[in-house]
Amino acid sequence: MTGHDDLPVAARTRQLEERLIAAGLTSDDEIDEFLTRLYTKASPVNGARMVARAWTDPRYRDLLLSDGDAGAAEMGFGDLTYGLRVVPNTGSAHNVIVCTLCSCYPVSLLGPSPGWYKSFAYRSRTVREPRAVLAEFGLALPPDTGITVWDSTSEARYMVLPARPDGTGELAEDDLAALVTRNGLIGTALL
Ligand code: FE
Repeated sequence: MTGHDDLPVAARTRQLEERLIAAGLTSDDEIDEFLTRLYTKASPVNGARMVARAWTDPRYRDLLLSDGDAGAAEMGFGDLTYGLRVVPNTGSAHNVIVCTLCSCYPVSLLGPSPGWYKSFAYRSRTVREPRAVLAEFGLALPPDTGITVWDSTSEARYMVLPARPDGTGELAEDDLAALVTRNGLIGTALL
Protein backbone atom coordinates (compact mmCIF):
# COMPACT_ATOMS: atom_id res chain seq x y z
CA MET A 1 0.00 0.00 0.00
CA THR A 2 1.24 3.46 -0.89
CA GLY A 3 1.46 5.83 2.04
CA HIS A 4 0.96 9.58 1.89
CA ASP A 5 4.67 10.24 2.24
CA ASP A 6 5.48 8.12 -0.81
CA LEU A 7 3.57 10.40 -3.18
CA PRO A 8 5.49 13.00 -5.18
CA VAL A 9 5.28 16.53 -3.74
CA ALA A 10 3.10 17.76 -6.63
CA ALA A 11 0.50 15.03 -5.99
CA ARG A 12 0.48 15.75 -2.26
CA THR A 13 0.10 19.46 -2.97
CA ARG A 14 -2.85 18.75 -5.24
CA GLN A 15 -4.48 16.57 -2.57
CA LEU A 16 -4.16 19.45 -0.12
CA GLU A 17 -5.60 21.92 -2.66
CA GLU A 18 -8.56 19.63 -3.28
CA ARG A 19 -9.28 19.32 0.43
CA LEU A 20 -9.19 23.11 0.85
CA ILE A 21 -11.48 23.56 -2.15
CA ALA A 22 -13.88 20.86 -0.87
CA ALA A 23 -13.97 22.63 2.49
CA GLY A 24 -14.98 25.85 0.75
CA LEU A 25 -11.82 27.68 1.84
CA THR A 26 -10.56 28.51 -1.65
CA SER A 27 -11.14 27.71 -5.32
CA ASP A 28 -9.05 26.62 -8.27
CA ASP A 29 -9.42 30.10 -9.78
CA GLU A 30 -8.23 31.73 -6.59
CA ILE A 31 -5.19 29.44 -6.36
CA ASP A 32 -4.33 30.02 -10.05
CA GLU A 33 -4.69 33.77 -9.66
CA PHE A 34 -2.39 33.80 -6.63
CA LEU A 35 0.29 31.67 -8.29
CA THR A 36 0.23 33.79 -11.46
CA ARG A 37 0.64 36.94 -9.39
CA LEU A 38 3.43 35.33 -7.38
CA TYR A 39 5.48 34.10 -10.31
CA THR A 40 5.05 37.05 -12.66
CA LYS A 41 6.34 39.46 -10.02
CA ALA A 42 8.82 37.20 -8.25
CA SER A 43 12.40 38.31 -8.84
CA PRO A 44 15.61 38.84 -6.86
CA VAL A 45 15.44 42.40 -8.19
CA ASN A 46 12.75 42.99 -5.54
CA GLY A 47 14.95 41.87 -2.65
CA ALA A 48 17.87 43.80 -4.14
CA ARG A 49 15.85 47.02 -4.19
CA MET A 50 14.98 46.56 -0.52
CA VAL A 51 18.66 46.01 0.33
CA ALA A 52 19.77 49.11 -1.58
CA ARG A 53 17.13 51.18 0.21
CA ALA A 54 18.27 49.81 3.58
CA TRP A 55 21.88 50.74 2.76
CA THR A 56 20.94 54.33 1.97
CA ASP A 57 18.09 55.05 4.39
CA PRO A 58 18.65 54.30 8.10
CA ARG A 59 14.96 54.69 8.86
CA TYR A 60 14.07 52.07 6.27
CA ARG A 61 16.84 49.77 7.53
CA ASP A 62 15.38 49.92 11.04
CA LEU A 63 11.90 49.18 9.71
CA LEU A 64 13.09 46.28 7.57
CA LEU A 65 15.00 44.67 10.43
CA SER A 66 12.21 45.12 12.95
CA ASP A 67 9.26 44.22 10.68
CA GLY A 68 10.18 42.55 7.40
CA ASP A 69 6.63 42.45 6.08
CA ALA A 70 6.24 46.19 6.67
CA GLY A 71 9.56 46.80 4.90
CA ALA A 72 8.43 44.74 1.92
CA ALA A 73 5.06 46.49 1.87
CA GLU A 74 6.67 49.93 1.81
CA MET A 75 8.51 48.97 -1.40
CA GLY A 76 5.32 47.64 -3.00
CA PHE A 77 5.84 43.93 -2.33
CA GLY A 78 3.48 43.64 0.60
CA ASP A 79 0.88 41.43 -1.02
CA LEU A 80 3.27 38.57 -1.62
CA THR A 81 5.29 38.16 1.55
CA TYR A 82 4.41 36.93 4.97
CA GLY A 83 6.37 36.42 8.13
CA LEU A 84 9.46 37.96 6.53
CA ARG A 85 12.48 38.31 8.80
CA VAL A 86 15.55 40.11 7.47
CA VAL A 87 18.90 39.24 9.05
CA PRO A 88 21.87 41.60 8.59
CA ASN A 89 25.40 40.49 7.77
CA THR A 90 28.29 42.38 9.33
CA GLY A 91 32.04 41.90 9.17
CA SER A 92 31.93 39.52 12.13
CA ALA A 93 28.50 37.90 11.79
CA HIS A 94 27.28 36.00 8.74
CA ASN A 95 23.77 34.68 8.09
CA VAL A 96 22.57 31.95 5.77
CA ILE A 97 19.02 30.72 5.14
CA VAL A 98 17.71 27.21 4.68
CA CYS A 99 14.49 25.23 5.04
CA THR A 100 15.44 21.91 6.59
CA LEU A 101 11.90 20.56 6.28
CA CYS A 102 11.16 21.35 2.63
CA SER A 103 12.03 24.45 0.62
CA CYS A 104 10.35 27.52 2.18
CA TYR A 105 11.78 30.67 0.71
CA PRO A 106 10.62 34.26 0.05
CA VAL A 107 9.93 33.60 -3.65
CA SER A 108 8.41 37.02 -4.29
CA LEU A 109 11.62 38.77 -3.20
CA LEU A 110 14.28 36.30 -4.38
CA GLY A 111 12.66 34.76 -7.46
CA PRO A 112 12.13 31.02 -7.92
CA SER A 113 14.47 29.11 -5.62
CA PRO A 114 17.52 27.41 -7.12
CA GLY A 115 17.54 23.62 -7.36
CA TRP A 116 20.32 23.25 -4.81
CA TYR A 117 18.27 25.14 -2.19
CA LYS A 118 15.69 22.34 -2.39
CA SER A 119 18.27 19.55 -2.39
CA PHE A 120 18.51 17.18 0.55
CA ALA A 121 22.27 17.82 0.74
CA TYR A 122 21.87 21.58 1.23
CA ARG A 123 18.92 21.22 3.63
CA SER A 124 20.63 18.68 5.84
CA ARG A 125 24.24 19.84 5.73
CA THR A 126 23.77 23.60 6.11
CA VAL A 127 22.61 23.29 9.72
CA ARG A 128 25.30 20.73 10.59
CA GLU A 129 28.35 22.17 8.89
CA PRO A 130 27.54 25.64 7.49
CA ARG A 131 31.19 26.66 7.18
CA ALA A 132 31.97 23.66 4.97
CA VAL A 133 28.86 24.19 2.83
CA LEU A 134 29.67 27.88 2.33
CA ALA A 135 33.25 26.99 1.40
CA GLU A 136 31.84 24.77 -1.36
CA PHE A 137 30.04 27.84 -2.70
CA GLY A 138 33.45 29.55 -2.83
CA LEU A 139 32.72 31.53 0.32
CA ALA A 140 35.59 30.94 2.75
CA LEU A 141 34.76 32.96 5.85
CA PRO A 142 37.44 33.85 8.41
CA PRO A 143 37.42 31.44 11.38
CA ASP A 144 36.35 34.21 13.76
CA THR A 145 33.27 35.13 11.70
CA GLY A 146 30.21 33.70 13.42
CA ILE A 147 27.67 31.94 11.21
CA THR A 148 23.98 31.84 12.04
CA VAL A 149 21.73 29.45 10.11
CA TRP A 150 18.08 30.51 9.85
CA ASP A 151 15.70 27.62 9.37
CA SER A 152 12.45 28.62 7.68
CA THR A 153 9.10 27.56 9.09
CA SER A 154 5.49 27.98 8.02
CA GLU A 155 5.50 31.23 10.02
CA ALA A 156 8.83 32.73 8.95
CA ARG A 157 10.66 33.36 5.70
CA TYR A 158 14.15 34.82 5.86
CA MET A 159 16.21 37.14 3.68
CA VAL A 160 19.79 38.16 4.32
CA LEU A 161 20.68 41.85 4.31
CA PRO A 162 24.21 41.71 2.87
CA ALA A 163 26.87 44.11 4.08
CA ARG A 164 27.32 47.08 1.76
CA PRO A 165 30.51 46.60 -0.29
CA ASP A 166 33.37 49.00 0.41
CA GLY A 167 33.93 51.80 -2.05
CA THR A 168 30.26 52.21 -2.99
CA GLY A 169 29.67 55.48 -1.16
CA GLU A 170 29.09 57.41 -4.37
CA LEU A 171 26.60 55.02 -5.95
CA ALA A 172 22.91 55.84 -6.33
CA GLU A 173 20.26 53.44 -5.05
CA ASP A 174 19.60 51.82 -8.45
CA ASP A 175 23.31 51.17 -8.98
CA LEU A 176 23.59 49.72 -5.48
CA ALA A 177 20.66 47.39 -6.17
CA ALA A 178 22.47 46.07 -9.24
CA LEU A 179 25.29 44.82 -6.97
CA VAL A 180 22.96 42.56 -4.98
CA THR A 181 22.81 38.92 -6.08
CA ARG A 182 20.30 36.21 -5.26
CA ASN A 183 22.97 34.15 -3.52
CA GLY A 184 23.89 37.24 -1.51
CA LEU A 185 20.27 37.36 -0.31
CA ILE A 186 20.43 33.66 0.65
CA GLY A 187 23.80 34.07 2.34
CA THR A 188 25.78 31.68 0.16
CA ALA A 189 27.82 34.57 -1.29
CA LEU A 190 29.21 37.93 -0.26
CA LEU A 191 28.86 40.94 -2.56
FE1 FE B 1 9.97 24.59 3.59
